[in-house]
Amino acid sequence: MSKLGDTTLDRFRFQRSLERLQELEGRGTELVSVYIPPNKQIHDVMTDLRNEYGTAENIKSKTTKKNVQDALTRAMERLKLFREVPENGLAIFSGNIQGESERDEEMVTYVIEPPDPINIYYYRCEHRFMLDPLFQILETEDVYGVVVLDAKDATFATLKGERANIIKDVSSGVPGKTRAGGQSARRYERLRNMHLNEYFNRLGDYFTDIFLNQENLRGIIVGGPGPTKEDFLKGNYLHHEVKDMILTTVDTGYTGPEGVKEVVNRSRSFLQKVRYMQERSVVQEFLQHLGEDDGLATYGEQEVLRHLKNVNVYKLLISQEVRRWHVKLVCSTCGFEEVRIVDFGEWEDFEEKVENLNCLQCEEGQYSIEEREDFIEKLVTLGQEAEAEIEVISTHTEEGEMLYRSFGGVAAITKYRTY
Ligand SMILES: [Zn+2]
Repeated sequence: MSKLGDTTLDRFRFQRSLERLQELEGRGTELVSVYIPPNKQIHDVMTDLRNEYGTAENIKSKTTKKNVQDALTRAMERLKLFREVPENGLAIFSGNIQGESERDEEMVTYVIEPPDPINIYYYRCEHRFMLDPLFQILETEDVYGVVVLDAKDATFATLKGERANIIKDVSSGVPGKTRAGGQSARRYERLRNMHLNEYFNRLGDYFTDIFLNQENLRGIIVGGPGPTKEDFLKGNYLHHEVKDMILTTVDTGYTGPEGVKEVVNRSRSFLQKVRYMQERSVVQEFLQHLGEDDGLATYGEQEVLRHLKNVNVYKLLISQEVRRWHVKLVCSTCGFEEVRIVDFGEWEDFEEKVENLNCLQCEEGQYSIEEREDFIEKLVTLGQEAEAEIEVISTHTEEGEMLYRSFGGVAAITKYRTY
């Protein structure tokens, strides 16, 4: 499976876990959120949390005070398990969650190591968990490479959200175009080309070092004044995987940090489109099979599940907007199993209704709920078992919107036709 596929999946999982946390509520102002940046010392954080514990003595409501202090104790217990703060920092969420009824409550603690660094240090105690900084990370996870170059020098940078980071400056050592008097023009030209070739080879190595294993890299843009960048790209200087990541070239007036800034400013609307190009083309591929009626396009929950179980899925398309449970019901009389897909929002109604359902096989037995799982996770598990390519697709494009609205959010391209 492609790197991009893995990334969208990780991203989806991270987003889902944030959405789940977002729904949790405390009875009072008693849910604790702690954000710790990578450079922080654990024992400093412990000291601050112990101080917060002391401050909580002043809370008037006895229950709230107890809950806040319990939450802090739990957070500290979890923090103690780390010898140092992980490279991207830590977020800890702890507190007493209010359930349906008065007495229904549960103490929970979640520790999240974000996929990108947390740059803030703070403690909050609110009615809900504070998740904005993590949602922000989710939005700026994509990385683009930016390289500006001419015959004199080159600058390598990465772009995350609005932030460009300069990684490396390289100078070419290539002599200028005008030769000193007395040299033969041909000899001078040959020497210059030799230097240029050596410089291009060096640049090729830097492209590999910097971008080949860069996580979440969505593409590289090459800028610079004049035709040197085109000469470089035309030559055989890039690792083939890096070459595939080149999105476009941009003419700039400068090299160096100024040139990087120019590229970023000029590429903004272009990058918006790139981000969803992959998603778009996957849905288009599905639509094409559907239009040609070649028997390879299939959609709908039960249909896709059936093909997955038959190991007959080449590409699995899942809309990120699908918010449903995959529920396994088992008949208490004959053991028959039935699968139902239930919207998150309809779960409580469904749970009540289950008692009144009769088994499809023996028609008498009652069902009990054997297993409940996020439908997307279920699809992903089955997809992996079937060795399908899995694409989790947003609704940021027309095609993604169509997958969700017109095809129920789940579709597949099968390996072979079954009719
Ligand atoms: Zn039965």
